[in-house]
Amino acid sequence: MQPRDLSANSPYVPGRGVEEVARELGLDPEELIKLSSNENPHGASPDAVAAIREHADGISVYPKASHTDLTSRLAEKWGVTDEQVWLSPGADGSIDYLSRAMLEPDDDILVPTPGFAYYGMSARYHHGEANEYELEKADDFVQTAETVLEQYAGERIVYVTSPHNPSGSTMDLDDVVALADATADSTLVVVDEAYGEFDESESAVSLIREDGGGASYADTRDDIAVLRTFSKAYGLAGLRVGYAVVPEAWADAYARVNTPFAASELACRAALAALDDDDHVEKSIESARWARAYIREELDAPTYPSAGNFVLAEVGDAEAVCEAAQREGVIVRDCSSFGLPACIRISTGTREGTERAVATLNDVLAELEQGVHA
Ligand code: PMP
Repeated sequence: MQPRDLSANSPYVPGRGVEEVARELGLDPEELIKLSSNENPHGASPDAVAAIREHADGISVYPKASHTDLTSRLAEKWGVTDEQVWLSPGADGSIDYLSRAMLEPDDDILVPTPGFAYYGMSARYHHGEANEYELEKADDFVQTAETVLEQYAGERIVYVTSPHNPSGSTMDLDDVVALADATADSTLVVVDEAYGEFDESESAVSLIREDGGGASYADTRDDIAVLRTFSKAYGLAGLRVGYAVVPEAWADAYARVNTPFAASELACRAALAALDDDDHVEKSIESARWARAYIREELDAPTYPSAGNFVLAEVGDAEAVCEAAQREGVIVRDCSSFGLPACIRISTGTREGTERAVATLNDVLAELEQGVHA
C-alpha cells in the first residue's frame, strides 16, 4: 500500500523551535531568543489565556455556540454579514477552504515568488497547479497591479500577500482594485493580511463590505477575499485560528466546503477574549513597529522596508550567519527556502530581545567579514 503520487507536494518547512535548537546545542532553552517564525514576543493575550482556563471544562462538547459567537463578533468588527466570515484552523485553513470552493482539477493559481509556500501546496492538494509572479529584490519587492498582471494568464486564484512574507512590502488598495478589475470575472484575488495589524493602511475588507468601504470604493466586489489570523498580533499561533472574509455573493459556499467545527472550542473562546483585549494587541503592534525601525537602523546590513512584524536583511551567506547566530542563542530565519540564500528574516522581539539579537547579529557579521578577508 502506498499513498497517491505525492512527489509534487514538498513538505512545509517551519522555522526551528527553541527546544529543538537548545537540545542540539546543549543550551538552556531560556537563553535562546527565537525570532524565526514571526510569533508574538509578548505571548498570548492574558485574557485569552484566562478564557481557556475558564472554558477548559467545556471541551467535551462540539464548539457550536462559541463558533457562532466568534463569527458574529468578527462580522460586527468588519461590517460584514456572518456568512462572509469563514472561520478556519489558522489562515492556512482558509487557504484550503478557498481552494476547495474555487478549484476544479487542473485549475491554476498565481502566487508571488519569493512567497508563502502554503498557497501552492494547498492548490496541489486540490489537484491544481501554482504559477509564479516575481517580486523584484532590486525594487524592494514592490507590489503593484502591473507586477502581477505581467505574469497573469487567467488563473482561478491570484494571491497577494500584504504585508508580504518574507519582505514586508505591501500592495496599495488602489492596486488591489486595479488588479481585480483587470483579471477575468472567474478570477478571485485573495489578499492575505496575516500581518495586517502591523500595517497602518486600510484592510482590503473595505472592498467587500456592504457599504463598499465608503466613498472611495463605492462598489461591493464579488472577486476579492481577505485572509486574517489570530496567530500574529493576538499571539494565538499555537491554537490555530484564523478566517477569510469573502464576498456576500458566494459566502454560503462555506457550509459546503468547511471541515465541520473548523475552529476548536478553546480557540474560539480565546479568540473572542483576545478581540476585546485592546491593551495586548496595541502593545504588540506598537512593539513590532518600534522593533522593525530599530532593526533597520541598527543592523550592520542592508534591510528592506517592512510593514510586518519582521525585517528582511541582506547578509551574504544566510546559512553561515544563521548558524553562527544560533550558536550565540539567537534563532533567525535563513531565507534560502524562499529562494533568497543571501537573506535572513528577523522577527521583531521584545525591546530587550531585539537589542540582543541585533548586537549578536552585528558581532556575527563582523566576524564573518573578517573570516572572508583573512
Ligand atoms: N499567510 C502568511 C503570509 C503567513 O506568513 C502565515 C504564517 N506564517 C500564514 C498565512 C498562516 O498563518 P496561520 O495559519 O498561523 O494563521
